[in-house]
Amino acid sequence: MGAADLLRDLNSAGLQVSVSGANLVLRPAGKLNGKLREAVLKAKPELVRMLTPPDPAGPTFGAEPGAPVWSAQDIERYLARRARLVRWGWAAADAAEFAARLTRRDATGDTRVACTECRRYERGRCAQHRAAGLQAAAVGRELAVLLQHCPGFAPVASRPPAAGRNQEDSKS
Ligand code: SF4
Repeated sequence: MGAADLLRDLNSAGLQVSVSGANLVLRPAGKLNGKLREAVLKAKPELVRMLTPPDPAGPTFGAEPGAPVWSAQDIERYLARRARLVRWGWAAADAAEFAARLTRRDATGDTRVACTECRRYERGRCAQHRAAGLQAAAVGRELAVLLQHCPGFAPVASRPPAAGRNQEDSKS
């Protein structure tokens, strides 16, 4: 099982996962059964890498030396994504950082998506969790920002179409 699948299983089991330095923090600990514990131990390095936020002092919106210049469309998408996250109660800095990360992803041709770009996601819940392979509707922040290929994904308008991705469109 890959780290992304494991993260989904942990969320489905009601566990919130975060990192503290090089350690994983799983809450509430009482929900961690033997099978999940074993899987977490095996996948720990990958989970820590996946959940560690980018360097806050690192490059941000339009600041990377040598980075591709953002087009007007990139900026429009960035602003729409950021505004949606702020509407959902994200801190402005978190919303800006994640919106910028998605814009950088677009430039690479990476077809993985995040729940925050899916019209089935709203404030920590997935409206199609069964189609997505989740056992429960709750989607924690760490899963919502995880780039993945989800069978239930339906893009909001700010996600540009790309080969191999669900082309359905909607309003955010
Ligand atoms: S359908 Fe998939 S991508 Fe969309 S909110 Fe649910 S889990 Fe996330």
